[in-house]
Amino acid sequence: MATIHDLLRQYWGSPSFLPLQEEIIGSVLSGNDTLAILATGGGKSLCYQLPALYLGGLTLVISPLISLMKDQVDDLQARGIPAAAWNSSLDQKERARITGGISDANLRLLFISPEKCLQPGFLSSLATARVRLIAIDEAHCISEWGHNFRPEYRQLARIKEVFPGIPLIALTATAIPGVRRDIRQQLKMECAREFTGSFNRKNLRYRVVPKKNPLVFLADYLGQHREESGIVYCLSRSETETVAGDLQQRGFSAAAYHAGLSRQERERVQESFIRDRVQVVCATVAFGMGIDKPDVRFVIHYDLPKTLEGYYQETGRAGRDGQYSECVLLYSRGDYARIRSLLEQGDSGGQHLKVSLAKLRDMQEYCETTGCRRKFLLTYFGEDYPEENCGSCDTCDHPPEMTDCTDAAKLIAGCVKQLPRSFGIDLIADVLRGSKNEKARQYNLTSLPAYGTGKKYSKAQYRTWIQEMVRQGFLSRAGEQYPVIGCTTRTDEIVRNRCRVMLPAPEDAAVRRRASP
Ligand code: ADP
Ligand code: ZN
Repeated sequence: MATIHDLLRQYWGSPSFLPLQEEIIGSVLSGNDTLAILATGGGKSLCYQLPALYLGGLTLVISPLISLMKDQVDDLQARGIPAAAWNSSLDQKERARITGGISDANLRLLFISPEKCLQPGFLSSLATARVRLIAIDEAHCISEWGHNFRPEYRQLARIKEVFPGIPLIALTATAIPGVRRDIRQQLKMECAREFTGSFNRKNLRYRVVPKKNPLVFLADYLGQHREESGIVYCLSRSETETVAGDLQQRGFSAAAYHAGLSRQERERVQESFIRDRVQVVCATVAFGMGIDKPDVRFVIHYDLPKTLEGYYQETGRAGRDGQYSECVLLYSRGDYARIRSLLEQGDSGGQHLKVSLAKLRDMQEYCETTGCRRKFLLTYFGEDYPEENCGSCDTCDHPPEMTDCTDAAKLIAGCVKQLPRSFGIDLIADVLRGSKNEKARQYNLTSLPAYGTGKKYSKAQYRTWIQEMVRQGFLSRAGEQYPVIGCTTRTDEIVRNRCRVMLPAPEDAAVRRRASP
């Protein structure tokens, strides 16, 4: 009988597995429920495609997007692996062909949406099929802590009842701890073996640049990277067109891409990009899924992304060939406020808005951190990154100038100690500045000794300093939805004059004035 290595060579033409693939496949083939967390491009699909071949019978793959299903089915069929996607657009004949394939046991992989999977009629049609494995792709969609919550995924909680004893593999590129916990609980796979690959993309350099004259910045940047391909992510459809239009006028080869274009138009842009006939695509996040261009040399975020998960995924499209590539994010506080109000307006109320706002705040913190960006990203994804200096991000290359800010730190530490309970950064800054704040009055904070003692610094300045004090361990940060600031054993050291505190110099705000391309 063929081994998994034989199958890999025969169907994928590859001599070796990518990191963790063999372990994950081994776990699945031993009949374990398995949770596989691999970064984009880490080769998740193979982790259920190859077992599907090895096990024979039928593997059900639950996938959130028809376009993703289609890409996979095309790819599998091209390799000679019988696969099909079941969706509402199938006609009678196609349905009959798929059901025929199931009853003859010829079909190896069937892709379906979560809704479809749990429709009673559908399952009875699978009663005669030899289902050997169930794969749940993009499993973070089941969690509100994921960046892509899909309520339909919640129905999958029943899958264990429907297919008792059939191993489950859940796959995602989102490793944040809340999501992992949720996937295990929701899918009732508490005992699943878990495999997490590294999210560190060593060949990517991360930078955050103040967003001042973004079009000028872009033109300069492209001017210095003329021979290279890149993607510029924008927030809105109209912006992709404005930016692409501006770049064209400046003589660059640029195209816009968004979901509002016709299918032919989108395919034409993709094709031109892949064939290097267009240097830059100005796109919404719709661009990139299923585009396998290995030599994207830069990904620029023209607007602030809404989540770090999204940001990581989009920047992950750079440098797939392993060569040095850059990820540049243009950031302004104004953008943060703009996106926050967009989220608030677009909200239907409830839990989801809180999660979105918390994620946007994390994104903002990434932009404003004075520490290593890579470490920030990896820590966010639950990965331990022991290095203090990654050697390939703007903050490591140009650490902000630190000065003795013990007096300011004492104000902050004193204030945090006086508060009756933990509060967020904004409220602490308001108390120090003596601002009129509803909450401050409500909790009677206006009578604290610290109230109004730090008027000389701006709110933005406090934000930077408090975040930096958290990083240095002088303060703590807790709470997933509402990050609140608390004391540590070191807070006392400051208050009691037992240490000096070095913080970014006051005029040197967290976003440094390094606007050169
Ligand atoms: P993910 O879903 O984790 O983003 P994919 O499953 O799309 O990643 O795989 C990324 C690319 O790597 C695909 O082009 C895939 O064919 C390729 N790939 C996956 N596993 C291997 C392997 N063992 N050897 C060579 N190429 C592989
Ligand atoms: Zn770094």
